[in-house]
Amino acid sequence: MNDTFARLALTPRFQLLPERFFAKVAPTPLAEPVLAIWNAPLAAQLGLDPDTNAHVGLTDYLTGNLLIPGSEPLASVYCGHQFGVYVQQLGDGRAILIAEVKDRNGIVQEIQLKGAGPTPWSRRADGRAVLRSSIREYLCSEAMYGLGIPTTRALAMTASPEAIWRETRETAAVVARVAPTFVRFGHFEFYCHHGDHEGLRTLVDWTIEHFYPECADAASPALALLEVVIARTATLLAHWQAVGFCHGVMNTDNMSILGLTLDYGPFGFMDGFDAGHICNHSDESGRYAYNQQPQIALWNLQTLAQALLPLLDREAAIAALHTFQDLFETAFAAQFQSKLGLPDWRDEDWGLLTTLFNLLQAGRTDWTNFWRDLASLGLQDAHPCPALRDRFVDREAFDQWLTDYRERVAATGDAVAVIQERARAANPKYILRNHLAEIAIRKAQQGDFSEMQRLHDCLSQPFAEQPEYADYAAAPPDWAASLSVSCSS
Ligand code: AMP
Ligand code: MG
Repeated sequence: MNDTFARLALTPRFQLLPERFFAKVAPTPLAEPVLAIWNAPLAAQLGLDPDTNAHVGLTDYLTGNLLIPGSEPLASVYCGHQFGVYVQQLGDGRAILIAEVKDRNGIVQEIQLKGAGPTPWSRRADGRAVLRSSIREYLCSEAMYGLGIPTTRALAMTASPEAIWRETRETAAVVARVAPTFVRFGHFEFYCHHGDHEGLRTLVDWTIEHFYPECADAASPALALLEVVIARTATLLAHWQAVGFCHGVMNTDNMSILGLTLDYGPFGFMDGFDAGHICNHSDESGRYAYNQQPQIALWNLQTLAQALLPLLDREAAIAALHTFQDLFETAFAAQFQSKLGLPDWRDEDWGLLTTLFNLLQAGRTDWTNFWRDLASLGLQDAHPCPALRDRFVDREAFDQWLTDYRERVAATGDAVAVIQERARAANPKYILRNHLAEIAIRKAQQGDFSEMQRLHDCLSQPFAEQPEYADYAAAPPDWAASLSVSCSS
């Protein structure tokens, strides 16, 4: 037994920024926490013993009831645009940075406890997170990691019987989440909009020094930073669109400066394809609908560019923003090239894709299962494919589409098995469907975290055939359609 948390080698970095960037605030203890789930591989990567039994006080460290000796917990200040409206002060209202540690790869990682109690930026809220939203954040961030999509990660979740109030009485949980940094677009907005240009420059220099050192030598480092963030964000959005992921609250304070998927709230993976799908019940106008996400990302990047203007040439910033569309389309094409199993992307493939989207839309065809099955079933022989065509409303039109796709495949000269293998590596069999998370939540609310663990285990290898998890790949039950998620968390 050893107190490995206490011996974590701290590498302060965010903490070294000027004091006005944050407030020093300790987590507020939670009663009777239990360790609901523990991410052993990530723990090992952070230099922690993956075996929970090897630790003393592990649950208390992960809840914020014990502090790592020498750490100075803090909450950072930021602002942002929420649903398009400027909000002049936000900040870590319930997430507390408890440690910055160098991982096995030499990368410094921030460890935050989300739901660890109030901070000066809590705005009269309780600083807590409910169990259900904590489970969703834990599972989805690890599912995204399994999918190979840039994301923050989850080290653990602890749960407490302590009551917290939302629409009704619920209980509290804490997610220990991990990322090289949780800095958001909103951090930059904060210093710009408060006229603190020195703070802005400090933050830009800090970001470049630690994450984008290649920008330091550019004629305009701030412009180089903007350009690389535009490129990373375009890639991220192409990933989201390819797996049918809707973030739900793409406010600028939820946009990572590293291009990571950040702040899992009312997100959702589409079951049946609907281009206008709105996953967040609170998003009445559909601002963050599936098909709006790329242009909202650009809108958010414009906000970032505006925040950087004190350090930037205006025309150069506008020119950089104009590259987004091409970068996104290129990344999007690369995603769908892989999903179709093709060795290259040609201009006429856009037509093939558009026709397919229209057919999927008309049939509300299950996105994940269709893509997973397309190459394996659709390329099996030269006849119409009942197992696929029955998922569409206009079956003759789908037969025609499949014929066109087979011709495209034949023209590549690649063996069908090669195409199928490529497609299998790009189309996950398992995603975090809403109803799967819901089942895990309902069990956890009874104190049983086994389903959460089982789901996590499956989703860590979403591209592998895992017959023992066949139930997770099945079409969603009817009740899944009535589930709704909102900003309440
Ligand atoms: P979100 O939309 O969940 O990313 O949250 C927006 C802002 O509200 C952030 O500044 C959060 O820290 C803050 N916030 C959300 N829920 C709470 C809560 N229960 N207590 C304190 N702050 C919160
Ligand atoms: Mg947020």
